[in-house]
Amino acid sequence: MCELCTTNGLSRRHLLGGGMAVAGLAAAGLLGGLATPTAALAQAARPNDIPPAEALKRLKDGNARYAANKPRQHDFSAGRAARASAQYPFAAILSCADSRVAPELAFDQGPGELFVCRVAGNFVNEDGLASLEYGVQVLGLPLIMVLGHTNCGAIDATIKVVKDNITLPGHLPGLVNALKPGIEAAIAKQPKDLLATAIEENVRFNVRRLRDASPILSKAVADKKLQVVGGVYDIGTGKVTAIEA
Ligand SMILES: [Zn+2]
Repeated sequence: MCELCTTNGLSRRHLLGGGMAVAGLAAAGLLGGLATPTAALAQAARPNDIPPAEALKRLKDGNARYAANKPRQHDFSAGRAARASAQYPFAAILSCADSRVAPELAFDQGPGELFVCRVAGNFVNEDGLASLEYGVQVLGLPLIMVLGHTNCGAIDATIKVVKDNITLPGHLPGLVNALKPGIEAAIAKQPKDLLATAIEENVRFNVRRLRDASPILSKAVADKKLQVVGGVYDIGTGKVTAIEA
């Protein structure tokens, strides 16, 4: 059986895994005054069972700490034993592979808190969609953020391909094709700053793709269990700006 399913599937195995996680939390003294193991399990079985708005606030607060260079003290060993048996991330980030964009740092989060999918140009492909479906259906993620960034080389290259009709080597044409819809929407607007607009339009296009992705994500959105939002990370300031989509 898939290792992932044994820790987070909605099954007896999941309950056992959750129990082990709770035991770990209890051992770490994180369950406070909970009197019985049953009460502890009921309260702590899914720490990420929070409204999407609260998940978004955590990201915003974390980014504010990061941009102000005042991150939390991270104790990477705390909770390690509990994480071995289960994970409860509260948000997924679909970000670019750019080395200057590091979601866990940009949102000041530790291990087990973010479910991150990365690909140059932060677009939705089949494998990325499957990963996010797993995150929502099995891990119970309440929030997905598509995170573009300033000075994105993948977007810039795609603009050149579309405008100058050049062909890139290797497997890059496949990536460029995936990015074209958002970029063509930006070109049609004839903006002053085409790169910045294309970065935003690419985020909007992929937010809508995820919201409409049936059967799993679209249903979770309709049921108000999931929110899909967009943002752009400014490499120069470290700040993430929300993108309405
Ligand atoms: Zn990029």
